[in-house]
Amino acid sequence: MGYFFDAARAMAMSLKSAFRKPTTIEYPFEKRDQGPRARLTFALVHDEHEEEACVGCLMCQKICPSQVITVVPGKKRPSEATGKKRGFADDFVLDMNACIYCELCVQVCPTDAIVMTQEHMRPGFAREDLVLTMDKLYANEQEKELSWGRASILLAMQDPKRGTDQERAVTKKKSAAKAATKPKPEPKAEVKADEPKADTGPTEDAS
Ligand code: SF4
Ligand code: SF4
Repeated sequence: MGYFFDAARAMAMSLKSAFRKPTTIEYPFEKRDQGPRARLTFALVHDEHEEEACVGCLMCQKICPSQVITVVPGKKRPSEATGKKRGFADDFVLDMNACIYCELCVQVCPTDAIVMTQEHMRPGFAREDLVLTMDKLYANEQEKELSWGRASILLAMQDPKRGTDQERAVTKKKSAAKAATKPKPEPKAEVKADEPKADTGPTEDAS
């Protein structure tokens, strides 16, 4: 008898669930909107002159706690746009298999060349599928929505001295307000030349 009730309850539950709105989606065919803070994979970007922004400085490789970035710096050569000599990377590989999404590589980049994206990378069936080569990283610049988090913006958020004019103005205003509320030190009393000096006790010479 107990078995019958258990089976009936299970069937009722199954029927109820069959008409419930699904809570999962068929990724990657369907994609959910990500929040503005989503950081899902990486891209290398071009600068305002349409040149590769990466100068091959190795900062991202050195700071990466998981040691998953390998940069091969190239020889310095003049920029086609400005004529100034600058560095380039000959190769760049980021292995997502061990990335912990700390974003330190983005924060240290002096040229805002590496950014995270707000879109996932395609799921893979082999470890190699999760290795981002330089070509894949530059393709992500075109194909994926990039996060707003660039090194220059993230650093400005942490250090008001490096912020925008507006942020600097707010900091200046706050400092002025703080200085205004600080008690001023008492002015020192003037000692007139003909007035006898106060007795400060025996000196070393007197002994
Ligand atoms: S986000 Fe990934 S690749 Fe970048 S520093 Fe952190 S572990 Fe390394
Ligand atoms: S991505 Fe940025 S930090 Fe990394 S090598 Fe290129 S310029 Fe340097």
